[in-house]
Amino acid sequence: MKILFLLLISTILFAQTGLDELVNPKDLIPDIAIDLRYSTPNHSFLNIPTKGDIPLPKFYTCNETLVLLKMANALKLAQDYLRTVTSHNGKNYPKGIGIKIWDGYRPRAIQYLFFAIYPNPTYIADPASGSMHNRGGAVDVTLIDLATGEELAMPTKFDDFSAAASHSNNNLTQEVINNRDLLKYAMSTIANLNIYGSEWWHYNLSDASSYPLQDFQMK
Ligand SMILES: [Zn+2]
Repeated sequence: MKILFLLLISTILFAQTGLDELVNPKDLIPDIAIDLRYSTPNHSFLNIPTKGDIPLPKFYTCNETLVLLKMANALKLAQDYLRTVTSHNGKNYPKGIGIKIWDGYRPRAIQYLFFAIYPNPTYIADPASGSMHNRGGAVDVTLIDLATGEELAMPTKFDDFSAAASHSNNNLTQEVINNRDLLKYAMSTIANLNIYGSEWWHYNLSDASSYPLQDFQMK
């Protein structure tokens, strides 16, 4: 009877954790940093011309992100590795290095908005087919010092839609190249995610496009 009961419970739990379920990566990785730039006016999104002092719009309703469970597991692998990196570029990181997420799941309605503002599919996926972000299968990330929360120097700011953000840009200091390489090692070699050649901050599941497009705002 007890076994039957446990079977029933596990069946119910399994049914609630489908492979396309979106989860909060903080639940799996408590020390991962979240700074959803689109939930604040602090984003350089596409250099939208603003009139006078009108602030840039907030595209997201809160500073919490979601990703596919498979992506959360990949991020955990990357963060578990980075936490062991206590010396890098000749500097000490007593608590190791960590990931900061700038963007994860993105409602499809926001994708339509982005594309209307900047219809350039190199940087903004056409919402008609949808972005891997709309499926929870992509993240935009950088590295931080886990002791201080300070970001490591990277080739460009987030959403710098220029050739400078490309992985092939080596017109950089060795320190910056090493930082980009460390992120790439953790995310692609350790966590088995795909890089995106045009944006050093973007990583996605290799099968991201097979997950459903979703369109709801975080609360
Ligand atoms: Zn991205």
